[in-house]
Amino acid sequence: MVAHSALDFGQKGAVPPLPLAGEGTAYCLIGRLRQCSGDDEDKTQSPAARRARIRARRERLRARAACARRIAPRIAPKPRRSQTELIAYHDRAYATDIAAVASEAERYVVARAPLVKNPALVLDIDETALSNWDQLVANDFGYFTAGACDFLPKGPCGALKWDELGHATAIAPTLHLFDAARAAGVKVFFITGRREAERAWTERNLSKAGYGGWEALVMKPDALDATAAAYKAAARADIESNGFTIVANVGDQQSDLDGGHAERSFKLPNPFYFIR
Ligand SMILES: [Mg+2]
Repeated sequence: MVAHSALDFGQKGAVPPLPLAGEGTAYCLIGRLRQCSGDDEDKTQSPAARRARIRARRERLRARAACARRIAPRIAPKPRRSQTELIAYHDRAYATDIAAVASEAERYVVARAPLVKNPALVLDIDETALSNWDQLVANDFGYFTAGACDFLPKGPCGALKWDELGHATAIAPTLHLFDAARAAGVKVFFITGRREAERAWTERNLSKAGYGGWEALVMKPDALDATAAAYKAAARADIESNGFTIVANVGDQQSDLDGGHAERSFKLPNPFYFIR
Protein backbone atom coordinates (compact mmCIF):
# COMPACT_ATOMS: atom_id res chain seq x y z
CA MET A 1 0.00 0.00 0.00
CA VAL A 2 1.45 3.31 -1.02
CA ALA A 3 0.01 6.62 0.01
CA HIS A 4 0.55 9.14 -2.76
CA SER A 5 1.72 12.55 -1.74
CA ALA A 6 0.72 15.85 -3.27
CA LEU A 7 3.99 15.82 -5.17
CA ASP A 8 3.06 12.55 -6.91
CA PHE A 9 0.24 14.33 -8.72
CA GLY A 10 1.49 17.87 -8.43
CA GLN A 11 2.18 18.51 -12.09
CA LYS A 12 -0.55 20.17 -14.09
CA GLY A 13 -2.92 17.69 -15.69
CA ALA A 14 -1.96 14.73 -13.56
CA VAL A 15 -4.97 12.93 -12.12
CA PRO A 16 -4.88 10.60 -9.15
CA PRO A 17 -6.53 7.21 -9.48
CA LEU A 18 -9.88 6.68 -7.83
CA PRO A 19 -10.12 4.49 -4.75
CA LEU A 20 -11.01 0.84 -5.10
CA ALA A 21 -13.61 -0.64 -2.80
CA GLY A 22 -12.21 -2.12 0.35
CA GLU A 23 -8.78 -0.60 -0.02
CA GLY A 24 -7.26 2.05 2.16
CA THR A 25 -7.23 5.65 1.03
CA ALA A 26 -5.11 8.66 1.62
CA TYR A 27 -5.74 12.33 0.95
CA CYS A 28 -3.58 14.44 -1.26
CA LEU A 29 -3.74 17.98 -2.58
CA ILE A 30 -3.89 18.88 -6.26
CA GLY A 31 -5.10 22.43 -6.20
CA ARG A 32 -7.92 21.24 -3.95
CA LEU A 33 -8.46 18.33 -1.59
CA ARG A 34 -9.18 15.17 -3.48
CA GLN A 35 -9.60 11.62 -2.36
CA CYS A 36 -7.23 9.21 -3.99
CA SER A 37 -6.16 5.65 -3.48
CA GLY A 38 -2.75 4.39 -2.59
CA ASP A 39 -2.91 0.98 -4.19
CA ASP A 40 -0.01 -0.32 -6.22
CA GLU A 41 -2.35 -1.82 -8.78
CA ASP A 42 -3.41 1.63 -10.07
CA LYS A 43 0.21 2.42 -10.85
CA THR A 44 0.10 -0.21 -13.56
CA GLN A 45 -2.69 1.62 -15.41
CA SER A 46 -1.73 3.47 -18.52
CA PRO A 47 -2.43 7.21 -18.75
CA ALA A 48 -5.10 6.46 -21.34
CA ALA A 49 -6.84 4.03 -18.99
CA ARG A 50 -6.76 6.58 -16.19
CA ARG A 51 -8.24 9.26 -18.45
CA ALA A 52 -10.97 6.83 -19.46
CA ARG A 53 -11.80 6.22 -15.82
CA ILE A 54 -11.99 9.95 -15.13
CA ARG A 55 -14.26 10.50 -18.14
CA ALA A 56 -16.53 7.71 -16.97
CA ARG A 57 -16.70 9.19 -13.50
CA ARG A 58 -17.57 12.62 -14.89
CA GLU A 59 -20.32 11.08 -16.98
CA ARG A 60 -21.77 9.43 -13.89
CA LEU A 61 -21.76 12.76 -12.05
CA ARG A 62 -23.42 14.54 -14.98
CA ALA A 63 -26.11 11.85 -15.17
CA ARG A 64 -26.72 12.15 -11.44
CA ALA A 65 -27.05 15.94 -11.67
CA ALA A 66 -29.42 15.69 -14.63
CA CYS A 67 -31.54 13.21 -12.73
CA ALA A 68 -31.71 15.57 -9.74
CA ARG A 69 -32.87 18.39 -12.03
CA ARG A 70 -35.62 16.20 -13.46
CA ILE A 71 -36.85 15.14 -10.05
CA ALA A 72 -36.67 18.52 -8.33
CA PRO A 73 -39.73 20.18 -9.95
CA ARG A 74 -41.91 17.24 -8.94
CA ILE A 75 -41.24 17.86 -5.27
CA ALA A 76 -43.79 20.32 -3.89
CA PRO A 77 -41.94 23.33 -2.48
CA LYS A 78 -42.42 24.12 1.15
CA PRO A 79 -44.65 27.14 1.61
CA ARG A 80 -42.60 30.30 1.73
CA ARG A 81 -42.39 31.80 5.15
CA SER A 82 -44.30 34.83 3.99
CA GLN A 83 -47.25 32.64 2.99
CA THR A 84 -47.25 31.03 6.41
CA GLU A 85 -47.12 34.44 8.05
CA LEU A 86 -49.99 35.76 5.93
CA ILE A 87 -52.19 32.86 6.90
CA ALA A 88 -51.26 33.26 10.55
CA TYR A 89 -52.06 36.98 10.40
CA HIS A 90 -55.40 36.31 8.73
CA ASP A 91 -56.35 33.72 11.33
CA ARG A 92 -55.26 35.71 14.37
CA ALA A 93 -55.38 39.50 14.00
CA TYR A 94 -56.90 40.39 10.63
CA ALA A 95 -60.54 40.42 11.75
CA THR A 96 -59.70 42.55 14.78
CA ASP A 97 -57.71 45.02 12.67
CA ILE A 98 -60.51 45.27 10.12
CA ALA A 99 -63.09 45.83 12.84
CA ALA A 100 -61.05 48.60 14.44
CA VAL A 101 -60.93 50.62 11.21
CA ALA A 102 -64.50 49.90 10.15
CA SER A 103 -65.95 50.83 13.53
CA GLU A 104 -64.07 54.14 13.48
CA ALA A 105 -65.45 54.81 10.00
CA GLU A 106 -68.93 53.91 11.20
CA ARG A 107 -68.77 56.34 14.11
CA TYR A 108 -67.65 59.11 11.79
CA VAL A 109 -70.25 58.42 9.10
CA VAL A 110 -73.13 58.23 11.55
CA ALA A 111 -71.99 61.43 13.27
CA ARG A 112 -71.61 63.35 10.02
CA ALA A 113 -74.76 62.10 8.31
CA PRO A 114 -77.17 64.68 9.79
CA LEU A 115 -74.70 67.51 9.31
CA VAL A 116 -74.04 67.45 5.56
CA LYS A 117 -76.08 67.64 2.40
CA ASN A 118 -76.75 64.32 0.67
CA PRO A 119 -74.24 62.28 2.71
CA ALA A 120 -72.56 59.44 0.90
CA LEU A 121 -70.25 56.57 1.79
CA VAL A 122 -67.89 55.02 -0.75
CA LEU A 123 -66.81 51.41 -0.36
CA ASP A 124 -64.38 49.35 -2.37
CA ILE A 125 -65.44 45.72 -2.90
CA ASP A 126 -62.58 43.18 -2.88
CA GLU A 127 -61.04 42.77 0.58
CA THR A 128 -63.21 45.69 1.72
CA ALA A 129 -66.82 44.58 1.34
CA LEU A 130 -66.12 41.02 0.19
CA SER A 131 -63.40 38.58 1.16
CA ASN A 132 -61.74 36.43 -1.49
CA TRP A 133 -59.75 34.52 1.10
CA ASP A 134 -60.48 31.03 -0.21
CA GLN A 135 -59.21 32.00 -3.66
CA LEU A 136 -56.15 33.79 -2.29
CA VAL A 137 -55.09 30.75 -0.30
CA ALA A 138 -55.87 28.32 -3.13
CA ASN A 139 -53.53 30.32 -5.39
CA ASP A 140 -50.78 30.76 -2.79
CA PHE A 141 -51.47 34.52 -3.02
CA GLY A 142 -50.67 34.57 -6.72
CA TYR A 143 -53.01 36.27 -9.19
CA PHE A 144 -54.15 35.28 -12.67
CA THR A 145 -57.37 36.11 -14.46
CA ALA A 146 -58.03 33.19 -16.77
CA GLY A 147 -58.58 29.54 -16.05
CA ALA A 148 -60.98 27.30 -14.23
CA CYS A 149 -61.68 27.18 -10.51
CA ASP A 150 -62.70 23.55 -10.14
CA PHE A 151 -60.55 22.28 -7.30
CA LEU A 152 -61.29 24.46 -4.28
CA PRO A 153 -60.04 24.52 -1.60
CA LYS A 154 -57.02 23.69 -3.75
CA GLY A 155 -55.95 25.82 -6.70
CA PRO A 156 -55.55 26.97 -9.31
CA CYS A 157 -58.54 29.30 -9.37
CA GLY A 158 -58.77 31.97 -12.08
CA ALA A 159 -60.04 35.34 -10.88
CA LEU A 160 -62.77 35.68 -13.49
CA LYS A 161 -64.18 32.25 -12.77
CA TRP A 162 -64.00 32.96 -9.03
CA ASP A 163 -65.96 36.19 -9.51
CA GLU A 164 -68.51 34.38 -11.65
CA LEU A 165 -68.99 31.70 -9.01
CA GLY A 166 -69.73 34.42 -6.44
CA HIS A 167 -68.14 32.61 -3.51
CA ALA A 168 -66.71 35.77 -1.91
CA THR A 169 -68.05 36.31 1.60
CA ALA A 170 -69.01 39.46 3.45
CA ILE A 171 -66.42 41.19 5.57
CA ALA A 172 -68.61 41.49 8.63
CA PRO A 173 -67.43 44.86 10.02
CA THR A 174 -67.89 46.44 6.58
CA LEU A 175 -71.37 44.98 6.26
CA HIS A 176 -72.14 46.45 9.70
CA LEU A 177 -70.85 49.83 8.50
CA PHE A 178 -72.94 49.53 5.34
CA ASP A 179 -76.12 48.85 7.32
CA ALA A 180 -75.41 51.58 9.86
CA ALA A 181 -74.78 54.13 7.13
CA ARG A 182 -78.00 53.29 5.32
CA ALA A 183 -79.92 53.45 8.59
CA ALA A 184 -78.50 56.94 9.09
CA GLY A 185 -79.72 58.05 5.69
CA VAL A 186 -76.36 57.80 3.96
CA LYS A 187 -76.23 56.66 0.34
CA VAL A 188 -73.68 53.95 -0.26
CA PHE A 189 -71.67 53.76 -3.46
CA PHE A 190 -69.45 50.84 -4.38
CA ILE A 191 -66.47 51.77 -6.54
CA THR A 192 -64.61 48.68 -7.67
CA GLY A 193 -61.77 47.82 -10.00
CA ARG A 194 -63.79 44.90 -11.31
CA ARG A 195 -64.70 45.40 -14.94
CA GLU A 196 -68.15 46.31 -16.24
CA ALA A 197 -68.39 42.87 -17.84
CA GLU A 198 -68.57 41.39 -14.34
CA ARG A 199 -71.53 43.49 -13.21
CA ALA A 200 -74.12 40.71 -12.98
CA TRP A 201 -71.74 38.39 -11.12
CA THR A 202 -70.74 41.16 -8.70
CA GLU A 203 -74.27 42.30 -7.95
CA ARG A 204 -75.28 38.71 -7.28
CA ASN A 205 -72.33 38.13 -4.96
CA LEU A 206 -72.96 41.35 -3.02
CA SER A 207 -76.60 40.43 -2.52
CA LYS A 208 -75.71 36.88 -1.52
CA ALA A 209 -73.28 38.27 1.06
CA GLY A 210 -75.97 40.44 2.62
CA TYR A 211 -75.48 43.83 0.97
CA GLY A 212 -78.72 45.36 -0.26
CA GLY A 213 -80.00 48.82 -1.15
CA TRP A 214 -76.79 50.42 -2.38
CA GLU A 215 -77.14 53.62 -4.36
CA ALA A 216 -74.83 52.68 -7.23
CA LEU A 217 -72.21 50.18 -8.23
CA VAL A 218 -69.42 51.88 -10.20
CA MET A 219 -67.37 49.43 -12.25
CA LYS A 220 -64.31 50.02 -14.37
CA PRO A 221 -65.19 50.31 -18.06
CA ASP A 222 -63.92 47.28 -19.95
CA ALA A 223 -61.74 49.34 -22.28
CA LEU A 224 -60.42 51.83 -19.72
CA ASP A 225 -56.65 51.74 -19.26
CA ALA A 226 -56.07 53.72 -16.08
CA THR A 227 -54.60 53.08 -12.67
CA ALA A 228 -57.00 52.23 -9.88
CA ALA A 229 -56.13 55.48 -8.15
CA ALA A 230 -56.93 57.64 -11.17
CA TYR A 231 -60.11 55.79 -12.08
CA LYS A 232 -61.46 55.78 -8.52
CA ALA A 233 -60.67 59.43 -7.80
CA ALA A 234 -62.51 60.40 -10.99
CA ALA A 235 -65.48 58.24 -9.96
CA ARG A 236 -65.68 59.99 -6.57
CA ALA A 237 -65.47 63.38 -8.27
CA ASP A 238 -68.38 62.31 -10.43
CA ILE A 239 -70.43 61.39 -7.36
CA GLU A 240 -69.71 64.78 -5.84
CA SER A 241 -70.67 66.50 -9.07
CA ASN A 242 -74.10 64.91 -8.66
CA GLY A 243 -74.60 66.75 -5.36
CA PHE A 244 -73.41 64.17 -2.82
CA THR A 245 -71.05 64.80 0.04
CA ILE A 246 -68.72 61.83 0.44
CA VAL A 247 -68.17 61.77 4.18
CA ALA A 248 -66.05 58.61 4.14
CA ASN A 249 -64.16 56.49 1.63
CA VAL A 250 -63.15 52.99 2.73
CA GLY A 251 -60.77 50.65 0.92
CA ASP A 252 -58.04 48.09 1.44
CA GLN A 253 -55.58 49.67 -1.02
CA GLN A 254 -53.98 53.08 -0.87
CA SER A 255 -55.06 53.43 -4.49
CA ASP A 256 -58.66 53.26 -3.27
CA LEU A 257 -58.07 56.40 -1.27
CA ASP A 258 -55.58 58.57 -3.14
CA GLY A 259 -56.84 61.59 -5.01
CA GLY A 260 -59.18 63.10 -2.41
CA HIS A 261 -62.90 63.67 -2.97
CA ALA A 262 -63.89 62.47 0.51
CA GLU A 263 -63.97 64.10 3.92
CA ARG A 264 -62.08 61.20 5.45
CA SER A 265 -60.43 58.05 4.17
CA PHE A 266 -60.20 54.75 6.03
CA LYS A 267 -57.57 52.19 5.07
CA LEU A 268 -58.34 48.57 5.88
CA PRO A 269 -55.40 46.17 6.24
CA ASN A 270 -54.48 44.00 3.28
CA PRO A 271 -51.01 42.45 3.34
CA PHE A 272 -52.11 39.82 0.81
CA TYR A 273 -51.76 41.77 -2.45
CA PHE A 274 -51.13 45.23 -3.82
CA ILE A 275 -52.92 47.28 -6.49
CA ARG A 276 -51.62 50.52 -7.96
MG1 LIG B 1 -59.98 46.09 -2.69
